[in-house]
Amino acid sequence: MAKRSNRPGLRTTAIHAGETPDAETGASAPNLVMSTTYALERPQGFSIHAIGDDAPYIYTRWSNPTVRQLEDKLAALEGAEACQAFASGMAASAGLLLSLLSSGDHLVISDTNYAGTAELARHTLPRLGIEVTAADTSDVDVVAAALRANTKLLWIETPANPILRLSDIQALAELAHGAGARLAVDSTFATPVATRPIELGADFVVHSLTKYIGGHGDALGGAVLGSAADIQALNREAAIHHGGVLSPFNAWLILRGAATLPLRMKAHSESALAVAEFLESHPKVARVLYPGLASHPQHDLARRQMDSFSGMMAFQVADGPATAARMAARTEGGLRVIHYAVSLGHHRSLIYWIGTDEVVGASFALEGAQLDAYRAFAGDGVFRLSVGLEDPEDICADLDRVL
Ligand SMILES: *Cc1c(COP(=O)(O)O)cnc(C)c1O
Repeated sequence: MAKRSNRPGLRTTAIHAGETPDAETGASAPNLVMSTTYALERPQGFSIHAIGDDAPYIYTRWSNPTVRQLEDKLAALEGAEACQAFASGMAASAGLLLSLLSSGDHLVISDTNYAGTAELARHTLPRLGIEVTAADTSDVDVVAAALRANTKLLWIETPANPILRLSDIQALAELAHGAGARLAVDSTFATPVATRPIELGADFVVHSLTKYIGGHGDALGGAVLGSAADIQALNREAAIHHGGVLSPFNAWLILRGAATLPLRMKAHSESALAVAEFLESHPKVARVLYPGLASHPQHDLARRQMDSFSGMMAFQVADGPATAARMAARTEGGLRVIHYAVSLGHHRSLIYWIGTDEVVGASFALEGAQLDAYRAFAGDGVFRLSVGLEDPEDICADLDRVL
């Protein structure tokens, strides 16, 4: 992957991009600006359509100085021209899908991805006259066959929730562009530390900031990154008109988290490899899916498109539901370090059981070859493990106790 030659390194970028000492006070840390409105030095238009890009801050749903600092930091980290922050990852995803797609357009989306996105694509978009095809985007030929004349957007998630299946960003960007479509990548699991989809040809990158970028499990947020023109259009429609914008307080918390993202991701991925190797050699564990393991079916692609392998893995045991009950119990026998909880990317380790029948029925609606392909990865179900920043020996000991 191309080394950023004349740009500062990722650690420097994470700390300094988007931030400058406050002009008036010299304050070194970012100001938290909670104001919803701004006293203007001269009258401005009242409609966003009458207001140019050089306008001052007018109203916080349109833009806010604290949120802007986070957006500029994320754009620098992703190597994108611009960023629009949202109230959550789902607000970012919905904002992008509903702004780009109109009745009569066609969307091709990974058949395995974050359940909220999967359900939005399957239930809401068709109601609005948008055609949706869910395809196994880990197979470029399958995607090629799914594209149509009216395909406007290809949406992938890599690594994909919950089974860590990968999609080839560069190959799919070329394919989408050849068919006149755009490519959006939900890169929440990878973060810009591991993968920078824009550099690989993607048009949009989507993040749940709730996960690694915020990193501490105390603030919901989302973001979409892309070209300046695309993000300006998204600001007008998805932020200003749909309204699901990030609160300045959450932006301030996420700014603090983002500053240590490269260091945290290094620790997450080093610990995750140790935990994955421990699980792979554990007699009670049938299979481990971690992009950093040679046993991952797409390890070659992982090495090509990821600089490191993040902290997410999935593993299979003989009796998932019974093991999950043991893990969650708040008794002597239960987990002590890892929390049995949804979400991921926090400093605390989190684990959750995701049964195949439930997820393919309720969220993914897979059948036939797609169901077979999902089962080939996930069997009857997987534990999704988000390896946190605790000592890896303690994480392994915790797992050993409950397996
Ligand atoms: C959590 C998550 C989302 C949704 O983000 P929220 O902040 O919970 O709304 C979207 N995509 C992926 C991959 C996620 O893990």
